[in-house]
Amino acid sequence: MTSLSVVVPAYNEGEGLREFQRRVAAVFDTLDLDCSVLYVDDGSRDDTWSVMESLRAADGRVATLKLSRNFGKELALTAGLDHVDADAVVVIDADLQDPPELIADFVAKWREGYDVVYGTRASRAGETAFKKFTSAAFYRVMERMTDLPIPRDTGDFRLMSRRAIDALKQLRERQRFMKGLFTWVGFPQASIVYDRDPRFAGDSKWNYWRLWNFALEGITSFSSFPLRLATYVGVVAALVAFVFGIVVFAKALIFGDPVRGYPSLMVVVLFLGGVQLMALGVIGEYLGRTYVESKQRPLYLIDRHHPPRSGDR
Ligand code: UDP
Ligand code: MG
Repeated sequence: MTSLSVVVPAYNEGEGLREFQRRVAAVFDTLDLDCSVLYVDDGSRDDTWSVMESLRAADGRVATLKLSRNFGKELALTAGLDHVDADAVVVIDADLQDPPELIADFVAKWREGYDVVYGTRASRAGETAFKKFTSAAFYRVMERMTDLPIPRDTGDFRLMSRRAIDALKQLRERQRFMKGLFTWVGFPQASIVYDRDPRFAGDSKWNYWRLWNFALEGITSFSSFPLRLATYVGVVAALVAFVFGIVVFAKALIFGDPVRGYPSLMVVVLFLGGVQLMALGVIGEYLGRTYVESKQRPLYLIDRHHPPRSGDR
């Protein structure tokens, strides 16, 4: 029988997991598939793990995976994807912002032959104008700097076929910008539009500092344009300085201008100093990432893994 696995990364989600399981189980009952769900505990500090274990005791379709500490959502997701072998895999948040009921629509599209079916948010209700603006700006910058057509307003909520998962599993980079990796893999992709719900319980783990780092991650993982940008800024600054130099020289020769250089000197020195520091910073971003990759550490470490009890798979 064709199988479907749902991978759920969770960090301090103990409060909402039972409701999540109830809704996912209801969806499973309507599907003509061998379904299972894998909860990944990303080093939670609340009762998430014990809730997961009790869900597993109550339902044979539940598997659990516990990481040795908090590795972040991208790596929790990666760990989950490495531990499922179903024909189709759905990735979904534990906080019920992505409605599990949509999985049935994903499966229908997958049966039409699409390898990747992702949910696109129709509305961003309850988000501030500033958040909407920064997110729109991010997608625009991303589109211009990389060749990847990363779909807008699309999170990690998606279904992937076995061959798409197998392709994704070959990308073992440590700095994981999942949206970019999902897109890089390619294969026929379809989108389903949905409305994102507010969180069921608990708090979002995101803030603007994390979002900023996320954006840096995305750009430096998929584009080397900023490295070239430093060159262009340098060339332009040098040209301007050259023309300015000729003007100053000519003025001194023709009009015998006494050199009153202090203000302009300061401006030029500060400007060039700023540009150089910026360029160094950009190089540092890439160098730091190369350093992290070169250490070849494992992406994550497993504390415990309990497969589904239903032994028919
Ligand atoms: N998450 C995780 N590890 C982390 C942070 C978050 O596994 O370090 C999980 C979290 O439990 C949730 C999902 O990632 O299932 C999305 O997190 P969150 O709701 O905080 O993000 P948002 O929806 O605000 O983008
Ligand atoms: Mg959320």
